Amino acid sequence: MHIVIGSFSHESNSFNPDHTQLDDFSPRLYGDQVLDALRTAGRTALHGIFDTLTTRGSAVTPTVFARAVPGGLVSQEAYYTIKEELLQRLKRADSVDGVCLHLHGSMTVAGLGDAEGDLLASVREIVGPQIPIVCSLDMHAMVTPAMVACADGLVGYRTAPHVDAYETGANAAKLLHDALQGHYGLAMCAVGLPMLVSGEQSETEKYPMNELIPKLEEAEQQGEVLSASYFLGFPWVDVSYNQGSAVVVCREEQSRARDQAEQLARHFWHYHKEFRFTTEAYPFAEALAAAETRNPGPVCIADCGDNPGAGGSQNIVYPLKHMLEKGTSCALFGSIADPASYRRCADEGIGSQVKLRLGRLSTGELVGLAVEGTVTHIGPLGAVPAAVVRIQGIDVVVSSRRAMMVDPEELRALDLEPEEYGLLVLKSGYLDPKYEAIAGHGLLALTPGYTNQNFRDLEYRHVPRPMYPLDKDFEYNPRSYRMC
Ligand SMILES: [Zn+2]
Repeated sequence: MHIVIGSFSHESNSFNPDHTQLDDFSPRLYGDQVLDALRTAGRTALHGIFDTLTTRGSAVTPTVFARAVPGGLVSQEAYYTIKEELLQRLKRADSVDGVCLHLHGSMTVAGLGDAEGDLLASVREIVGPQIPIVCSLDMHAMVTPAMVACADGLVGYRTAPHVDAYETGANAAKLLHDALQGHYGLAMCAVGLPMLVSGEQSETEKYPMNELIPKLEEAEQQGEVLSASYFLGFPWVDVSYNQGSAVVVCREEQSRARDQAEQLARHFWHYHKEFRFTTEAYPFAEALAAAETRNPGPVCIADCGDNPGAGGSQNIVYPLKHMLEKGTSCALFGSIADPASYRRCADEGIGSQVKLRLGRLSTGELVGLAVEGTVTHIGPLGAVPAAVVRIQGIDVVVSSRRAMMVDPEELRALDLEPEEYGLLVLKSGYLDPKYEAIAGHGLLALTPGYTNQNFRDLEYRHVPRPMYPLDKDFEYNPRSYRMC
């Protein structure tokens, strides 16, 4: 069998005014180069797709592997350039039996909207109505009617933090391959869930997700359901199609998929008021005070209102200002994505005294924070050039662009030893498992920014209403939210 594969993903935050540009997609690989990503990009969903298909004897044609750190809406130039590369390779492929892609599910393009719906419609147009299209998606996908109409199967992650990308890709490939080999069609139904929930309130090892996810496995074990997924939507995008969903794929029979999806959606809704922060969460000043009473360190405070992992601008220095005013010491803060300040530090060099206007104070105040410090290190923070400036008792990491704080090893590569600090204030949402492993304690700080956890502080104009928790008490009927 011959399957065309690819991966094009971004989680787009409409509150962050800086658009995500073509160069932000890194890596951005085309054709046979995509196979390099399988060797170097870790256990990605595309890797799971590739391994599953090739182990089963299928030939694969790679098209695109492109992803960017979550950020503002994707520019049309970036989206259409990468989309065109994918479509051109699909058009050139001979005798295609199926298409298996990894998409995020919450990529939004400036002036266009639903990227995945648009992309899948174009893929469908090229392959025609008979060739199955199956996609793996992030758990924070906003599944839309266009996606459901154009794809035969959508399969979601079941873990948050996401540690099952590879397995989800493998499940999507298996769903496609089994259907092709068994000569049966896939029937899919999605049922919307009108709610916004942040990742910090829906980690899968904690209640209520730890009771919801097993329901998917139960549904699949009954035999009729080939794949069941819960998608949570993405709260920091103000679009008319934002919602969560329950998605079910069955063999052939649409009515079964519809009934099962309605049942799973109803079950999820039963818990919709149960989502709470699964880590202690405070306004920043209280988080800082709480950190002083926690032993042993390091205490990790997630500055989760400015989380690049959900598209924050990663340059809001309100928490740093507060730490400096309080005389916090033995602390690390970072990283602040500030190309001009990074450049200044790199030009002046290690050991130099620098005066900087760092980041910006909050989303409304574009003025930076005036600081003076000593450049102590220059090097890479993961793949991003960065400098460390000691300002009073705080080591501040300044990066040349946004970089998710997911691995303490990246600090070690900058000659910083994260475990020697009493306090790490990280631009992050829920802590990555690798930071969790070194943290004595973890706290969430409810800070200002484009990933503000208090949804009522954000100006939603387009999300459909009613929408929990913006609207509190309303009736939910899964039938009115059916997308099939
Ligand atoms: Zn996600």
